Amino acid sequence: MNVQSLLSTVDFAAKKHKNQRRKDVEGTPYINHPIGVAEILSREAGISELVVLQAALLHDTVEDTETTFEEIEQKFGKAVRSIVAEVTDDKSLPKKERKRLQVVNAPNKTREAKLVKLADKLYNLRDLNRCTPKGWGDQRVEEYFKWAHEVVVGLRGTNSILESKLDELFQARNLG
Ligand code: NDP
Ligand code: ZN
Repeated sequence: MNVQSLLSTVDFAAKKHKNQRRKDVEGTPYINHPIGVAEILSREAGISELVVLQAALLHDTVEDTETTFEEIEQKFGKAVRSIVAEVTDDKSLPKKERKRLQVVNAPNKTREAKLVKLADKLYNLRDLNRCTPKGWGDQRVEEYFKWAHEVVVGLRGTNSILESKLDELFQARNLG
């Protein structure tokens, strides 16, 4: 049953991220982010494919917790594993290189991975507009928008609703 799968996925992600906080001053629980990304896909973009919503819920588990791809495949299947793998940065690379690869590789991702990446960027940019993370200045926020814009250029042609909402945020910062 879809509802059950979705709740098992939220439960798994919540346990994995239980000790993590977002970078905002209030230290919002990290799990708010993957739940919010899945919610954007469902409510705002009208996506109802279970594997895409599950991948959204799990998208930062391997990158930011001890979770392995094998564990995700075993619990949620090959399709979910594959989308999560596509949106996971290689943490063995230096940060600058990881950022560069997101820009370069964006156009080669599958539609499912592009959807998760678009919603992830939309959530993070809204979060930056809501409040500036601890230790960040205006310039770092500007740089983040600029980099996110470059990634989103490579994700275009996937979902017009998400893309126009992102475009509004970029235009407000004179990007694009
Ligand atoms: P980080 O990757 O360090 O931080 C952004 C990431 O943090 C997001 O992608 C998001 O990832 C996560 N995140 C957690 N909490 C929040 C929140 N409240 N709002 C938004 N995102 C949150 O930043 P970058 O390395 O991308 O830095 C941005 C730019 O600044 C880069 O272009 C870089 O060149 C520059 N930079 C500047 C530095 C400086 O000191 N001036 C130092 C380093 C970079 P997730 O979806 O995975 O949660
Ligand atoms: Zn994310």
